[in-house]
Amino acid sequence: MSKKMIIAIDGYAGAGKSTTAKLLAQKLGYLYIDTGAMYRAVTYLALQKNILQHKTAIIESVKNSTLSLQYANGVTTVFLNDIDITDKIRSAEVNSNVSDISVIEEIRTELVKKQQEMGANGAVVMEGRDIATTVFPNADLKIFLTASIEQRAIRRLNEVRPSDGKITLNDIRDNLLKRDDIDSHREISPLRKADDATEIDTSSITIDEQVEIIYNKVKETAAKKGLSL
Ligand code: C5P
Repeated sequence: MSKKMIIAIDGYAGAGKSTTAKLLAQKLGYLYIDTGAMYRAVTYLALQKNILQHKTAIIESVKNSTLSLQYANGVTTVFLNDIDITDKIRSAEVNSNVSDISVIEEIRTELVKKQQEMGANGAVVMEGRDIATTVFPNADLKIFLTASIEQRAIRRLNEVRPSDGKITLNDIRDNLLKRDDIDSHREISPLRKADDATEIDTSSITIDEQVEIIYNKVKETAAKKGLSL
């Protein structure tokens, strides 16, 4: 049987990567891997240990911790040292600090290695910022999602939970822009579209349309490269 595909989806914060990647993985019966959740978990660990400003301590803590993602029935559960931290990694505090943690070279090396192991067998949809450029530069299909900042902020506002307190559209907009700026300008594997990625602007299309467009690209690519779905 021919090899199954590695599909890389990168893009800006709130561009619809998670929802799209998850639905696409479901449609294909592939594994879905949310790499942002891993950087968020490390940020949560640093906050919890109160070592946010201590790079060496963060690196040490990550090396001494076990981080794992479990994906079942459309839901990713994130475990840190066997404790479920899925909800905790979505807090406003994690949102505010995650991009600063993500610039640390040693953290990226550690997480990229883990991501490469997780996707090594193919049949995977992996989403993040550097999947097509660094984690799987040989991915079979590379998608780069964009959307206007207004649309991205509105989408995120709709996901805010009552426990997040009073977050305004402006707060969200500022956080997304700040993260995009740090993510795009960092030295190690900055967020950028891979030269051979297909860019899709999701500002005025529905989630179903996004998934359909990418699904058709998957079929096209599989036929062209002799891969199986
Ligand atoms: O995808 P999500 O918005 O959850 O990612 C949170 C943050 O994790 C990003 O803003 C970025 O700083 C970092 N990240 C990264 N590389 C990835 C995925 C996420 O640097 N592959």
